Amino acid sequence: MSALDAARTLFTELTGRDPEGVWSAPGRVNLIGEHTDYNEGFVLPFAIPHRTFTAARLRDDDRIRVTSTFAAEPVEVAISELDRLFPTAVGAEPAVPEWSAYVLGVAWAIQLAAPEAALRGVDIAIASDVPVGAGLSSSAAIEGSVASALNDLWKLDLDPVALAQVGRRAENEAVGAPTGIMDQMASMLGRPDAATFIDCRSLATESVPTGFTGEGLEVLVIDTQVSHSHSTGGYRERRDACERGAALLGIPSLRDAAESDLPRTAELMDDVTFRRVRHVITENQRVLDTVRVLGSDGPRAIGDLLVASHASMRDDFEISVPELDLAVETALAHGAVGARMTGGGFGGAAIALVERDAVDRMADAVTRAFADAGFGAPHVFTVHPSDGPRRDA
Ligand code: ADP
Ligand code: MG
Repeated sequence: MSALDAARTLFTELTGRDPEGVWSAPGRVNLIGEHTDYNEGFVLPFAIPHRTFTAARLRDDDRIRVTSTFAAEPVEVAISELDRLFPTAVGAEPAVPEWSAYVLGVAWAIQLAAPEAALRGVDIAIASDVPVGAGLSSSAAIEGSVASALNDLWKLDLDPVALAQVGRRAENEAVGAPTGIMDQMASMLGRPDAATFIDCRSLATESVPTGFTGEGLEVLVIDTQVSHSHSTGGYRERRDACERGAALLGIPSLRDAAESDLPRTAELMDDVTFRRVRHVITENQRVLDTVRVLGSDGPRAIGDLLVASHASMRDDFEISVPELDLAVETALAHGAVGARMTGGGFGGAAIALVERDAVDRMADAVTRAFADAGFGAPHVFTVHPSDGPRRDA
């Protein structure tokens, strides 16, 4: 059953009625620009075909009832209770089951974004084909689809950027996950065959045609299914190193440094801090270069930038793992245009830019290489830049 039908069916099981409508929003993949967001730098993600669907109908009272194919049982609260439930205190558990905090947090945050609106209760059922926790941002997809549904049902007329901010607020303040806004922007601003360039300092965005679809290219996602336990500590250490590096350089954030600062940087700090800083400085430049090269020479010319990004994360930022390196090496050895790990690192997924007719061969080669290395089987599938939120029914 499609995720769209699953959301509809679940809604009918919950309420005994058909939904008033079904809305969806996509997950995303980051083409390039890793660990640059919290350094106020640049990223270039795109929305993917995998989507989360929200089937919903207004109620006659002020209660919000939500369920998901994911959930053990529905969660129900009154709209008037949302202000008491959220924001969640730093370090505290959400006052509702965690999955439902994504949904109820969006209801809470959208209400703050449109305080004059008089809001009616709503029944909501959710189903998704975005893999959870694979670095494809199932969280932005659920936030975006719920925000789109409520925006329509409550006639709020918020624009996609405002809805992205609603999603981020829900994730930060209702779920309590301290994330940037890249995922929500990528999901809400998705366009077929285009990526979204985001300046994480100004939040200015630009739609960048990728040419992948027109040129017969697909992006192979190789989800290693590996998740390393030291990822939280590792992430903290990387953020601290970036802050230390910026302080030693005397700049507000690493965004303010350029490749011409590298010689000076090397003299100012220890080798590890220097390499962390070098990754961020060069990665920002690679994002800008990728945007430029896509425009001037097309998608087959960005391979070296993707490969250099991976090398920088492996050698300078030190966030790769053997599974990700093997995925990238195998894809390149079998003719990928380019490949790199994507996401925060210490596991998760790699992406490879691949000719459409080579996808099956490449997927087989990667699966075989993992087996030969004694690694667990990866989950391999393709994505391409796709549209943002929409009403499906
Ligand atoms: P990801 O990389 O997939 O975004 P996150 O940890 O940020 O990983 O978000 C995953 C969480 O989002 C899940 O653990 C769950 O709480 C919530 N979530 C995502 N999709 C759904 C869904 N279809 N139904 C209910 N909750 C969901
Ligand atoms: Mg997420």
